[in-house]
Amino acid sequence: MNQRIQEIILDLKSYLEYLKGMGITGLPGSPKESARAFRNSSPVPLTASTLEEVRKELGDCRRCKLHRTRRTLVFGEGNERAKLLFIGEGPGFDEDVQGRPFVGRAGQLLTKILQAIDLRREEVYITNIIKCRPPQNRNPEPDEIQSCHPFLLKQIEAIQPKIICALGAFAAQTLLKTDAKITTLRGRCYDLGGIKVIPTYHPAYLLRNPDRKREVWEDMKQISGWMGENKGSAQPPGDSNR
Ligand code: URA
Repeated sequence: MNQRIQEIILDLKSYLEYLKGMGITGLPGSPKESARAFRNSSPVPLTASTLEEVRKELGDCRRCKLHRTRRTLVFGEGNERAKLLFIGEGPGFDEDVQGRPFVGRAGQLLTKILQAIDLRREEVYITNIIKCRPPQNRNPEPDEIQSCHPFLLKQIEAIQPKIICALGAFAAQTLLKTDAKITTLRGRCYDLGGIKVIPTYHPAYLLRNPDRKREVWEDMKQISGWMGENKGSAQPPGDSNR
């Protein structure tokens, strides 16, 4: 066999091993197949087609213990037709009070990060893995993530973003179904049913580790480049013609 082909096979083999190590056991087929597989990965049938319907279905959610301590359910906000979706961990104190995602110190940094790539919050959509604040801002627990997950998938289905930026370990691990560290996951782009997923450091982590901002800037430049490629198909807020 030609040496070049052998090299390609070896490269492919080690890439498949790498994916396997991350818990990815199958490769997506055609874009249609991928989208179907992605939808079918939800434990709840995906029938909702608009964010309003998803919000209605979530209602005054009491599916997990967080409802007992939350003040407000923080669903998410932004452009329902956004090409770029940011997914964080869960509401903190300020978000719980205001009912809006990323409005505290970490949120202000996220707003600045967006501005650095010429985006306004209203152009993207921002939500979290869990919709209710955990007491004392502790980490989300697996049952809480699981209760919220079908609704996160429905939000993704309704928005149909081209790119998802996963902010921090919880968002990246939940979306990519892996327990790999964020330092391992960051720096690569993943495919989720035809959607590009780019994990990056959480803004709250950046507040504590400003020396990591350079890597986030690299990720944002990557996103900005992809957004530029899609400029012709930009969707203004409220434009339902997709
Ligand atoms: N941190 C998050 O992960 N989400 C928010 O909405 C605010 C802070």
